Amino acid sequence: MKVAFFDTKEYDRQFFEPYSNGQMQIIFYDTDLNENTAELARGADAVCAFVNDDINAEVIEKLNTFGVKLLAMRCAGYNNVDLKSAFGKLRVARVPAYSPYAVAEHAMAMLLCSVRRIHKAYNRTRDFNFSLNGLTGFVLHGKTMGIIGTGKIGAAFAEICNGMGMSVLAYDKFPKCEGVNYAALDEVIANSDIISLHCPLTPETRHIINKNTISAMKKGVIIINTSRGELIDSEALLAGIKDRKIGAACLDVYEEESDLFFEDNSGHILNDDILARLISMPNVLVTSHQAFLTVEALTAIARTTIENIRGFFERGELQNEVVYRTDNIAAAPKRDGVAPSP
Ligand code: NAD
Repeated sequence: MKVAFFDTKEYDRQFFEPYSNGQMQIIFYDTDLNENTAELARGADAVCAFVNDDINAEVIEKLNTFGVKLLAMRCAGYNNVDLKSAFGKLRVARVPAYSPYAVAEHAMAMLLCSVRRIHKAYNRTRDFNFSLNGLTGFVLHGKTMGIIGTGKIGAAFAEICNGMGMSVLAYDKFPKCEGVNYAALDEVIANSDIISLHCPLTPETRHIINKNTISAMKKGVIIINTSRGELIDSEALLAGIKDRKIGAACLDVYEEESDLFFEDNSGHILNDDILARLISMPNVLVTSHQAFLTVEALTAIARTTIENIRGFFERGELQNEVVYRTDNIAAAPKRDGVAPSP
């Protein structure tokens, strides 16, 4: 069995290399998977892709022509896969859970860093500048944390916030987390001191943080996004920061991150003016989609991804499949003559 891995870096290769053996030949590519690079998958049985690969209709058509049977995403989100085009052509699996604590702890790490100005202090003391001017923070205990999306990561984050004595107010389209105080989205938006996003990117959640929601927030609100960049309208975020409406932003993901994040662009001129301006703000912290990047998460991602591939080719089962669903059955594509479920 031959598997083409796209968009790989040294830090994730080392967790997959032990699985490359006589039964499974893994070929690692640095490049992203897109319509120009799909050709590299010729001869592979499966393709493994990541968050910023663009698995659009053209890519799927090419993979199908090359005889690729499985797309194994080594991540939880699958918003970058055209599931409708894949239906009937390519089976798709993902890693639904690896370490929710990795992402939840990163969200809290960014928040603490921001409110206690650790990023500023770190740079100062390296220059033997021990002044405290401008480093005044505030206490999180007693503040209201608004959480949007209380699945695995949102629930882990709520637990951390509860442990720190914060009051958690949450919104979820399908609320199911025990011990969480749920409210309507507009109530969460209006009453939270900090808002952290943990819902998936869907057409419904795209730009859930926008000009209108920002105007309804408390002055000085802190926004944390460790979920997907497109949940926030970046122009509206920048405007909110310039207006002093938003007190701080902690961003592990960014709307237009796909051509930038995971790469060393330090020798280049950044063409994204909004990101450049956001990074220049003293109250904005940006990390490049690293919330998952822990030994625990990488180990679990490798294990589940390989198990997804083996299960499919060796036993004909695909445990963590993601399938296209629609109510418009008449217009839907078919797989083995069967339409998708609503
Ligand atoms: P999950 O599926 O366990 O939880 C998602 C929650 O969002 C669910 O409770 C769901 O009901 C809720 N939801 C769905 N639609 C909603 C809507 N319209 N409004 C409000 N809530 C809605 O997923 P998870 O494992 O907790 O991951 C959450 C997100 O975190 C993923 O979708 C992914 O985008 C992101 N993520 C980021 C990283 C990173 O490294 N930064 C790593 C893993 C996951």
